[in-house]
Amino acid sequence: MTKNLGKVLRNYVDGEFVISNHSFNNINPVNGQMVCRVSEADKDIVDRAVKSARKALHGEWGNMDVSERCKILNALADEIERRFDDFVAAEVADTGKSYSQVKNIDIPRGAANFRVFADLIKTRPPQSFEMDTADGKSATSYVVNKPIGVVAVVSPWNLPLLLMTWKVAPALASGNTVVVKPSEETPSTATLLAEVMQNVGVPKGIYNLVHGFGPNSAGEFLVGHEDVDCVTFTGESKTGTAIMQSAARDLKPVSFELGGKNAAIIFADADFDAAIAGTVRSVFTNCGQVCLCSERVYVERPIFDKFVAALKERAEEIKIGRPQDGSDMGPLISTKHRKKVLSYFSLALEEGASLITGGKVPEFGDERDNGSFIEPTIWTGLPEDARCIKEEIFGPVCHIAPFDREEEVVGYANDTNYGLAAAIWTKDSSKADRVGRQMEVGICWINDWFLRDLRTPFGGVKLSGIGREGGMHSLDFYSEPLTICVKH
Ligand code: NAD
Repeated sequence: MTKNLGKVLRNYVDGEFVISNHSFNNINPVNGQMVCRVSEADKDIVDRAVKSARKALHGEWGNMDVSERCKILNALADEIERRFDDFVAAEVADTGKSYSQVKNIDIPRGAANFRVFADLIKTRPPQSFEMDTADGKSATSYVVNKPIGVVAVVSPWNLPLLLMTWKVAPALASGNTVVVKPSEETPSTATLLAEVMQNVGVPKGIYNLVHGFGPNSAGEFLVGHEDVDCVTFTGESKTGTAIMQSAARDLKPVSFELGGKNAAIIFADADFDAAIAGTVRSVFTNCGQVCLCSERVYVERPIFDKFVAALKERAEEIKIGRPQDGSDMGPLISTKHRKKVLSYFSLALEEGASLITGGKVPEFGDERDNGSFIEPTIWTGLPEDARCIKEEIFGPVCHIAPFDREEEVVGYANDTNYGLAAAIWTKDSSKADRVGRQMEVGICWINDWFLRDLRTPFGGVKLSGIGREGGMHSLDFYSEPLTICVKH
């Protein structure tokens, strides 16, 4: 952790690492200590990054054939894997997540994103249509997919490398150039990726990186830049509103993956142990900081008391601690975020919740007391219109409510401004299909959670997003189709 002290993470512009006059602290949420300083990109650096991306679009990269580009994408995945330990250490230092999560999910998926989109772009089906014309002849129309241009990628802190490469990989596969603005909380793996780009010999200007904050900083300068062609963003819904307002001026296309207030529905006929294990994962993974996490759990009344008791027992077994302690759960991302989560812990009690477990900041008597740890928490007894039922909290917490009828629980699940994900637990496959189809979300799991085939569409409805990425949906967003119609 101390090996980076004194080091300043730099921006990466036009193939070179550059610094500005300002820098900010990158803090380790395990103990509140500084991991390193980070150079904050000013307007000039952002402008140079966008200009470099524009120039590269028309150079070697823009003219490269798809198979050459795919070789580069696969080489990027190889290089991430070669530097696996560096990536793991960087992600763990920035987030305090458990080593097992970072080693099994964050970094492997970061590399896999490049491989998946390299494969997909090669197998993208051509589109060609024949038609008869009024003069008795014919015409053929075919579609040429061109890059959309300079892509602004703005990403969050909860799965830093995974979510950033989820957008960078298809954007590059489709022939675009990118300017990436990672979260100010988690700048390290995006910087390592810049080193990977350099080592692999990716031509300059294709991957640019600007560090900083949102408003009045690199984020706002980037998404409002007149020479950016589209914005792809993952983060809070209200940030999406601000970005959309800024993008609206130049009518830039946007792809948004935003917040959630996801429901889990457990029917009495579910495999009880599997439903408990799955709900422990869906509530507490990554300290509840996954957009797909279940914050509202609805349990059919005959098994309600048994379910609450079992989930309480499992929540209390979760080992909270440092990544190197082999813990199950690390801290929240920052003390600022913990303040927000704790404000909901107080609010829930004011709104009439019964506290089943948790609700506090744990005390360790060591350096962890300067971190941002929080207890896994469960409530029952809130009315459906409580703010804690309506608003995204983004911490290791859920409310459990009983239900009696299928239509009743479908109503509860959909009665939200969000629409990202749902999880249904039942052994009755026709009920699963019937209820699943009624969910107003982008993805609904039956008897599992967070199982992703990267070829499928991913995104949300209502406040949870605009558009879909994943598989061909990503390639469609990052391409501009041109129809050529030939009269014969
Ligand atoms: P956030 O919106 O605070 O920040 C995300 C990014 O946007 C950061 O890089 C930030 O610096 C930047 N930003 C903030 N204001 C900006 C502005 N005005 N202009 C340009 N950039 C700006 O989100 P967060 O706290 O980093 O992430 C947590 C949120 O992300 C949660 O709401 C979670 O549900 C959501 N999320 C959604 C998905 C999904 O796939 N739907 C995935 C992960 C996280």
